[in-house]
Amino acid sequence: MPELPEVETVRRGLAPVLEGRRIVSVKQNRPDLRFPFPENFAKRLKGQTVIRLGRRAKFLAAELSSGEVLVMHLGMTGRFTVSGGQLAAFHHQTGTDRVHDHVVLTTDDGHTITYNDPRRFGFMELWPAQSFEAYPRLIAMGPEPLSNRFSAAYLDETLKGKKAPIKAALLDQSVIAGLGNIYVCEALWRAKISPKRLSASIPGKRAARLAPVINEVIAEAIEAGGSSISDFASASGELGYFQHRFAVYDREGEACPACGTTIRRLVQSGRSTFYCPDCQR
Ligand code: ZN
Repeated sequence: MPELPEVETVRRGLAPVLEGRRIVSVKQNRPDLRFPFPENFAKRLKGQTVIRLGRRAKFLAAELSSGEVLVMHLGMTGRFTVSGGQLAAFHHQTGTDRVHDHVVLTTDDGHTITYNDPRRFGFMELWPAQSFEAYPRLIAMGPEPLSNRFSAAYLDETLKGKKAPIKAALLDQSVIAGLGNIYVCEALWRAKISPKRLSASIPGKRAARLAPVINEVIAEAIEAGGSSISDFASASGELGYFQHRFAVYDREGEACPACGTTIRRLVQSGRSTFYCPDCQR
């Protein structure tokens, strides 16, 4: 499943081909993805210029000249590929099944942007730009990692009195936006905090360790071009490679890179947690 760094990688891949360009054709191949497409979806996109391609949590948000925002979520298996124009060299779409090409946009300079999503957990919606803060799927979101609103002081304030294990709290999108299973496991390992520890015991010195490493793992992953655990490819069709640098994620039974202790896996709220029982307390 694409996490925040992968979505940011996709944004950075798509921005140069979308921003300032006019959408000259829209091919919508089915009525719905995870949700139905908005009414008159293709008509509302066609002829619009993309002013800016932003991101909030795992949502891409393209501001259109019509005053609407095209919100795009990749779900589990969604991906964009770009072809034509200057990017002809990136045509290789290894293993991409055309049957799952659900939306195809063409821009006025000849780029084709294709949204492919075999499992269709992704979606696209349109929302007025002037009330985007009220977009329902984002309204309860916590601060972004790497943003000014996210800090050790924020964790102190938010986690005090919370009984859930810290692993669950960090996956809660109202606590911090866009942080998924992989990067929560990695951040807790770097901060030497047990995933089982109660959130209420984090404020203070542990929060002071945790906030910077959350920013660090996210920044490094964005830098590395996002990871590609399953069938994810960045906008240009290139695969990311951050998974080679995981310390604990998906490494049950292997040695902890810091102390050599065997990495364990446990299931918390239905998700696998990977951790070092020796380093993480
Ligand atoms: Zn260890």
